[in-house]
Amino acid sequence: MATPIGNLRDISLRALDVLKAVDAVAAEDTRVTRRLLDHYGIAARLIPVHEHNEKRAVKQVLALLDAGKSLALTCDAGTPAISDPGAVLVAAVQAAGHAVAPVPGANAAIAALSAAGFPGTRFLFYGFLPAHAGERRRELQRIAALPYVLVFYEAPHRIAECVEAMCEALGGERELVIARELTKLYETVHRGPLAQAGAWLAGHADRRRGEFVLVVEGAAAPAPTGAARARRTLEVLLAELPLKQAVEVAVKLGSGRKNELYPLALELKRKRGAVSGKR
Ligand code: SAM
Repeated sequence: MATPIGNLRDISLRALDVLKAVDAVAAEDTRVTRRLLDHYGIAARLIPVHEHNEKRAVKQVLALLDAGKSLALTCDAGTPAISDPGAVLVAAVQAAGHAVAPVPGANAAIAALSAAGFPGTRFLFYGFLPAHAGERRRELQRIAALPYVLVFYEAPHRIAECVEAMCEALGGERELVIARELTKLYETVHRGPLAQAGAWLAGHADRRRGEFVLVVEGAAAPAPTGAARARRTLEVLLAELPLKQAVEVAVKLGSGRKNELYPLALELKRKRGAVSGKR
């Protein structure tokens, strides 16, 4: 189940109901979840399930479920299994034939994306880039041309070098949103071209502190090739002009030679005729 990423009030009523009702809570760090439970006056049994004991913890959780008990799974902040432990346990619980139900709520990536203001519906959630500079550069190059908004998590001690690597690999003109300390006292959502992000971070030490989500504008669609451009020009002209005139204007616009454009215009006209039944 999702728990807050900062502001303790960012928890759903249903999540609180579930926390009160379950027999135990499997928690990434029992101290962190205990603080949340104490805040809401909930006394629940806690079982530690973190990266280093996830396989062992699975046995304990399955034994409880087999005995007819119910459990909730929490991570330190946000949604389990999103750049956090949880997936191994969830898969094991499913494989053992028990039901798994999500209790949705806070997630830093989605919160940042919703405040980034990039139009379009497609995004790629990457999570943490590799810490090693060479691997990070290769990963960034691999995804640089994707026409999707890119969403990354980053730690404060790597934020400056990460932004610099992004600028090199993705290009300085792409817009970057730095979403810092979301839902907390010093929440900051800064937007600007990648080329200026390094200077902004260097502008004040506080800007490099806390927790970060980086949201980068998707790559622009590649410029159409000569042939694709000529085709598009003719399509537009044919919608307004007779064929001969459309070809003449296209030649004047530098879209190609008359003997190349004429057959293309004929083909487009035939297709238009097939679609509209006229001209
Ligand atoms: N499971 C979490 C979620 O649903 O968002 C993510 C956990 S991941 C281990 C922690 C990273 O998430 C942080 O290093 C940071 O990049 C991002 N993050 C978590 N809380 C944040 C916040 N309040 N503001 C900005 N980024 C945050």
